[in-house]
Amino acid sequence: MAGPGAYWFGKEEADAVNRVMQSGHLFRYGSETDPKFLHTVASLENEFAKYCGAKFALATSSGTASLVASLAALGLQPGDEIIVPAYTFVASYTSCIFLGIIPVLSEIDESLTLDPDDIERHITSHTRAIMPVHMLGNPCDMDRIMAVAKKHKLLVLEDCCQAAGASYKMKKVGTIGDMGAFSLNVFKTINSGDGGLVVTNDQNLYETAFAMHDQGHKPSRLGVEVGSRNLLGLNFRMNELTAAVGLVQLGKLDMIVTTLREKRKKFKNLIADAKGFKLRTLNDPDGDCATICTVTFDNREQALKVSKILGSKTLDESGWHVYANMEHVLEYLKKIGRPHKKGAYPKTDNILSRAMNISIGVVDGGLGAGWGININSSDSEIESAADQFIEACR
Ligand SMILES: *Cc1c(COP(=O)(O)O)cnc(C)c1O
Repeated sequence: MAGPGAYWFGKEEADAVNRVMQSGHLFRYGSETDPKFLHTVASLENEFAKYCGAKFALATSSGTASLVASLAALGLQPGDEIIVPAYTFVASYTSCIFLGIIPVLSEIDESLTLDPDDIERHITSHTRAIMPVHMLGNPCDMDRIMAVAKKHKLLVLEDCCQAAGASYKMKKVGTIGDMGAFSLNVFKTINSGDGGLVVTNDQNLYETAFAMHDQGHKPSRLGVEVGSRNLLGLNFRMNELTAAVGLVQLGKLDMIVTTLREKRKKFKNLIADAKGFKLRTLNDPDGDCATICTVTFDNREQALKVSKILGSKTLDESGWHVYANMEHVLEYLKKIGRPHKKGAYPKTDNILSRAMNISIGVVDGGLGAGWGININSSDSEIESAADQFIEACR
């Protein structure tokens, strides 16, 4: 069970790690005059910024760390509210909670991402930001979300952890809002074991996120450190070994996405005549990573039947991606007097109860995508999976 990047680990990653080992420099900082120091983290940051078309990228230790560094950089304070979809990985909430920021949950729509029509209902005088999550590799309806943000003067932090390689109307995700947070964990499009990245076009946000990720320091610890700034930070640094793997994986990202799109297209064509379900809405069909093929059945009974036959599960039964399944988050929401029971987000509940994830590139039971194909599946394996799906739908 892993994302597509892990299926494509090869000699290139091993060689890159070996080069770092032989350099003797595993820390992200080193002497600028030492020819052996490889600057691998800095290279990953440069390459990723270029890849995204962003001015700045910051490497971190995880997607969660990327979210925390971004939220801190955006200046959100304890008691501030941020609107977050009710269907996302638990880290979208916990990154806020640990900064004292209140995640205010909001409905998703048939794209399984933040429903632009439900955002305004949750805006109060405490609302400072929106966190659209490009769930399952599929970009959110960013035009409409940005319009709401603009109207109410809200900041936008894109959670891109499941969507490295995705774009919305030709712009890479993460570059549409104020900041974007990415993950390099094993279940994502590309993988360095663990790791993360932040992108932004705003120098001040970049420098503040950098400070947050490294004890208040300036980027690359350049310039006078003592007395020159007053920011507090933590340690979310990436090391050179992680960056070595990340850089090689980044070089494979376009090929990964292209391959997944081809395989999903094949799979979709093969199941086109089957009845009783819809494919989920894609806000930009040309920008989706195609890591997952999500089907939404007409009713719950059919969803349960098909997923049971295939040894999978409906999305409302998948793990810590569904608000109603996050007992610790619900406990926290209860404590602060917010909706904290299944049923609080009926549209989301309804969609998730009828939906099933079919793996194309991300094979992850926790995401409800334990069944399907993977990036290395042959044509005959794709045909066989499609046959099984059609048979289960009968
Ligand atoms: C994976 C994920 C995260 C957290 O990333 P880590 O690298 O595991 O910390 C955050 N948000 C979403 C939507 C994710 O899928």
